[in-house]
Amino acid sequence: MQQTHKDFGCFIPCHNKIYDATNMVKEMIKNITDCKIPTKLVPKCPVCGGEMEVNLRKDAYFVQDDNWYKQDKKYGEFLDEVKNKRLLLLEFGVGFNTPGIIRFPFEQITYQNENCTLIRFNKDNCMTFLDIENRILKVEDDIKDIVSKL
Ligand SMILES: [Zn+2]
Repeated sequence: MQQTHKDFGCFIPCHNKIYDATNMVKEMIKNITDCKIPTKLVPKCPVCGGEMEVNLRKDAYFVQDDNWYKQDKKYGEFLDEVKNKRLLLLEFGVGFNTPGIIRFPFEQITYQNENCTLIRFNKDNCMTFLDIENRILKVEDDIKDIVSKL
């Protein structure tokens, strides 16, 4: 499964900030030779000089910066606002790498709100853990094919 992400953070991390990696990655792509990039393009932390990596929620080192908390608060407010209202959740290609972030919460929201419908686009695994079979539409076709037909 291919995943794209635009943020780098310090590997340790020594500070609580993430950096937009778009330009760094573009520069790396332009300078690839024999599947390698020049060492000088390996991202270094601007604070400690150590290695940086893509900021993914895969271990205890995931950085939640001020913007993350701001967006989390907004999302919580949105969920309070739509509680028991008509709601359509669209879930695209969410697997089991970090199911606690989107997949399980979406099932829980659907389970708790009888006015909610979940559309799960997932060609590999559309299974559910909660009894929401009457409020889930499982789409097991390739997302790329579906989007191109829209
Ligand atoms: Zn650092």
